[in-house]
Formats: sequence, structure tokens, C-alpha cells
Amino acid sequence: MITLKSRREIETMAQAGRIVHDTLELMRQIVEPGMSTEDLDREAERFIRSHPGATPSFKGLYGFPKTLCTSIDEEIVHGIPSARRVLAAGSVVSVDVGVCVDGLHADSAATIPVGPITPEVERLLEVTQESLVAGIGAAIIGNHVGDIGHAVQQVAEGAGYGVVRELVGHGIGARFHEEPQVPNFGSPKRGPALREGMTLAIEPMITMGGHATRTLKDKWTVVTADGSLAAHFEHTVAITADGPRILT
Ligand code: MG
Ligand code: MG
Repeated sequence: MITLKSRREIETMAQAGRIVHDTLELMRQIVEPGMSTEDLDREAERFIRSHPGATPSFKGLYGFPKTLCTSIDEEIVHGIPSARRVLAAGSVVSVDVGVCVDGLHADSAATIPVGPITPEVERLLEVTQESLVAGIGAAIIGNHVGDIGHAVQQVAEGAGYGVVRELVGHGIGARFHEEPQVPNFGSPKRGPALREGMTLAIEPMITMGGHATRTLKDKWTVVTADGSLAAHFEHTVAITADGPRILT
């Protein structure tokens, strides 16, 4: 079932979304070579809990043990923060974070460079962000979920990159993952119609190679099957009469 949120609920999700945004900004500021992903996780959890009433959405979700997902280089999503995973210069780390306020969630992700990166990797990050912007631009009343995926796919594949199929965006609200699924590929006018009050996590996962994935033995970390580099950018977006409103 797709739930439509009231204005008040959307404002609460925007409060959670602001904390999500600020957490990612903090991560951008502190990421540097030599840090572990556990260090990032600890800072993120401390920061989120410093806001009265705010809790990390991921901790305990389906048994996930941490506040952040931290996915390095060919890891696409769901990497588990660890003291043994130390960031190296020239790498990228995708940081995914969710926050709950008053029983409502917001979700966002960004791929952050660790020190200087090559122009090729820089371009992957730029194009992935452009594909997210295109997807958000299609999140308007009158369009369908397929229009969002189509917009993302046009930008990413147009630049020669792979679009991950097995993992998709999602509705979000009182539950972290709600209907509908929001694929990063698709056809215009297909899928559920977009209606005022829908809140969606739109999250392109784009690779420098193919779109196939596999999951590591830790049962969480999803990597590109061909070992190519991946990027992940995500925003939580409300469908409003005035157009898409980014809550994160
Ligand atoms: Mg996320
Ligand atoms: Mg998400």
C-alpha cells in the first residue's frame, strides 16, 4: 500500500531530513585518509543522538548493526562500518544514513572522495548526482514512478555508465521501506502514478562498468560483479502540488 503523508507528517520528515543532511555534511568535513569507517559511524551516531528525539534509522533495521552504511570503491551499498576498514587516499566512500524523528524517517546518501580523486572518478560522481537531479525533476504529479527511473537511466547510460537493477529506491515514512519500489530504470508513464503526499527515497546506484552485483560473505555488502567503481547518491523527496520537495 502506498501511504500519502499529511503536510504535518512531511514537516516532521523534513526535520529528520535536516539532521540526515547535516550528518552527511559532517561526514564530508571529517573524511580523510587513515580514518576507519567505524570512526565515521561513531561520529555520525553521536551527532544524530545530539538532537533530542532523533535516532539512527538503520541501527537494528533487519538486524543491521550500525548507524551508517559505508561502502568503499566497488562496494555499492550496505557496507558495514568497521575499525578494520581504513580509508585510503584516492578512494571514494558512499555514506548512507537514515534518521527517525517522531516515528517518521528520512534517508539520504552521498559518495565522498577520500583526498584527491582522478578526473574519471570525479565524472562518475558528477554524473550520478546529475542522474539524481533528473530523477527528482521527474517526481511531479501527473508522472509515474517509471518516469523517475527513465530520467535517471537516460543520464547515467547516456554517459556510458551502468545502472544497478537489483537495488532500487523506495517509499519512506512511518516505515523505512514502503511501497512503491523506485527503480533507477524504466519507461515513462509506467508504474504507480505520482500523487501529492507521496514521499520517495530516490537513489541512483551507478557503476563505471556493468550493472550486475553480488553480495559478500558478510551477507550485507553489495559489490559490482565486475569490480568496477560505484557511486550512490540519494534524497528523500515529497511529491507536492508545487513540485518535488527535497527533504534531505
Ligand atoms: Mg539510504
Ligand atoms: Mg533508501
